[in-house]
Amino acid sequence: MGTSRRDFLTTAAAAAAGAAAGGGHAHGQEHEHSTVPSDMTLRVKALESLLVEKGYVDPQALDAIVDTYETKLGPHIGARIVARAWADPAFKQRLLADTDAAIEEMGFGGQQGERMVAVENTPQVHNVIVCTLCSCYPWSVLGLPPSWYKSTAYRSRTVIDPRGVLQELGLEVPESIEVRVWDSTADVRYIVLPERPAGTENMSEEQLAALVTRDSMIGVEMIGVEKIGVEKIGVAKVETPQGGQPQGGRP
Ligand code: FE
Repeated sequence: MGTSRRDFLTTAAAAAAGAAAGGGHAHGQEHEHSTVPSDMTLRVKALESLLVEKGYVDPQALDAIVDTYETKLGPHIGARIVARAWADPAFKQRLLADTDAAIEEMGFGGQQGERMVAVENTPQVHNVIVCTLCSCYPWSVLGLPPSWYKSTAYRSRTVIDPRGVLQELGLEVPESIEVRVWDSTADVRYIVLPERPAGTENMSEEQLAALVTRDSMIGVEMIGVEKIGVEKIGVAKVETPQGGQPQGGRP
C-alpha cells in the first residue's frame, strides 16, 4: 500500500508541475490532459516532501501511519468492543467506568492518546456524538470519520436540534426517550454503546459484533430500528465502506 501511495504522490507532483508550466502546448489541442490533483493533495505533497528532505520525518513511518488509518482501524474494532459489552456484563461495567482501560484490555486503543468515554443507550436515553469545534472522533475504535460527521451542518445543528438532525439521518427517536448530545474534544472522545437488540440472546460475540454498525456507535442509528425516509438537505450523508477511507476533508 505504501508503495502505491508514494507512486501516487510522485505522479501527482509531476502532473501539477506540468500544469503549472502550461504543459508546453497550446490549449484547445486535441489530446488528453493529465488529471491535476486537488489543491489539498498538492499542499500535503509539498509539505511531506519538505519534511522528508529536511530529515524531520521518516517516509516509512509516515506510510505506516497512513496505512493504519486507511486499512487497520475501523468500526469493526468498535463493534467488537460493543459485542463484548453486550455479552459480558462485568466487561460492560468496566467499559463504562474506565473506557480506556477496558479498550486496552481487548488490545485496542491508544492511537491518539485522548481519553475515551463510552456512553450507554438505554430504553430511556439515546446518546449521539458530535464535535462542534472541528471533527474530533474516536479514531482508534471507529477509524476515520464519515464526511457528514465533519460537515458544518451536522456540527452546528446537532447541539441545537438533535432530534431534527437524527430525523434527517433517518432516525426517529420517540419523544419518550431523552436525547443526550456529547461534544467531543481533543481531550475526550465518545463512543455510543448501543442497546442490544431483542432476539439476540443466543448469539455469539462474533455474531453480535456483526450487528453493530458504525452509525450506531456515533448515535445516528439504532440497531434493529428501520431508518425512515430519505436524507434531506442540511446533513448530506455520504456513505463510505466499513473501515474504508472517507472522502474529503481532514479527519
Ligand atoms: Fe474536533
